Amino acid sequence: MRLIGLPFLALAVASCAPTVAQQNEPLPSLHQRLMTLDTHLDTPVWFSNPHWKFGDRHDWHTDLAQVDLGRMETGALDGGMFVIYTRQGPLTPQGFADAKAFAFKRLDEIHRTMAAYPSRIELVATADQAVRADKAGLRFAFISIENSYPLGEDLSLLQKFYDGGVRMAGPVHSKDNQFADSATGSNTWKGLSPLGRKWVAEMNRLGMVIDGSHSSDAAFDQLLELSKAPIILSHSGPKAMWDHNRNIDDDRIRRLAAKGGAVCMNSVFLTKMVYTDERNRLSDMADNIASLSAAEQAKLTADIRKLDATAPVQDTDFENFMRNLLYLLKVAGPDHVCIGADWDGGGGVRGFEDITALPKVTERLLAAGYSEADIAKIWSGNVLRILRAADAAKGG
Ligand SMILES: [Zn+2]
Repeated sequence: MRLIGLPFLALAVASCAPTVAQQNEPLPSLHQRLMTLDTHLDTPVWFSNPHWKFGDRHDWHTDLAQVDLGRMETGALDGGMFVIYTRQGPLTPQGFADAKAFAFKRLDEIHRTMAAYPSRIELVATADQAVRADKAGLRFAFISIENSYPLGEDLSLLQKFYDGGVRMAGPVHSKDNQFADSATGSNTWKGLSPLGRKWVAEMNRLGMVIDGSHSSDAAFDQLLELSKAPIILSHSGPKAMWDHNRNIDDDRIRRLAAKGGAVCMNSVFLTKMVYTDERNRLSDMADNIASLSAAEQAKLTADIRKLDATAPVQDTDFENFMRNLLYLLKVAGPDHVCIGADWDGGGGVRGFEDITALPKVTERLLAAGYSEADIAKIWSGNVLRILRAADAAKGG
């Protein structure tokens, strides 16, 4: 639902005959009517940038962000999981302390940003709250954690993040940490560490959804085996389509589905990732973009977009994204697929540059023969079911 202002409009015209303009107004498309969500929005990386406003509508050509409220409206993206991402640092008391301070600051920034737009978006913590917000014509924001590194060795911090509204978390990011091996790590623990096993129990006790994206295959297997609630892969893809450690093989997709979980289709790791020296130089600058002046940010953006045209990180397109999504749907079935394209975290390919392209996904799913009910599950129903299942299993 994104028909903001419609109740008022309906009241205003209730007693009048429709005008020609109203008669000619196109009916909302299926995509506009559906409740849509993306399970991995890295957009909070922008929230501390003084030259960037979440409430504005930016353009991909002149801005590096891929999600904002304006484009959520255009692309009819109703909500999603806004991520507290913490870069992996040293597994030392100081490393843990720095990461903890960073993650709580990011949590606070998410709260402040959402609170600045009370008539447009609402922070939510349950499936029911998200549905209510959607029905009221508001967008909705869940909060999730990518990389549990900021917890250090203190699992009681999970409760603090839960109290701050966080409802989904993954144990690890791109390097092994105190909880688990990373899909791109060095197999330190052969899966989960002893503390990682306790992390699973605490996640279940609180009713938080476990996110296995970025976990190694062995860690994924152990998450799946130990968790009392279905788990999610918030931004992953099928390994059979592109053989990368961040993607997941068919057997694991089927086992995840058999336990009620879902894989949310990523738009990263669809093909070879090419990082030229120039790309690395500009990416390092982009990591600290908030410290640059407005003019410097505009210059950096122009340089990156120029490079995107000549040497994209992924030389592929929306057609390939759809092939991967349709393959995933064949293996997992429509009850176990969702969408998590890693916007603002490296996602996006030609023809699928930002969230304004999302209606195309719905059109293509319809064209591929999926029913409206299936597409509704893919866009939000499956994730809401998993949130409810995690909540129902809590307390044990
Ligand atoms: Zn990620």
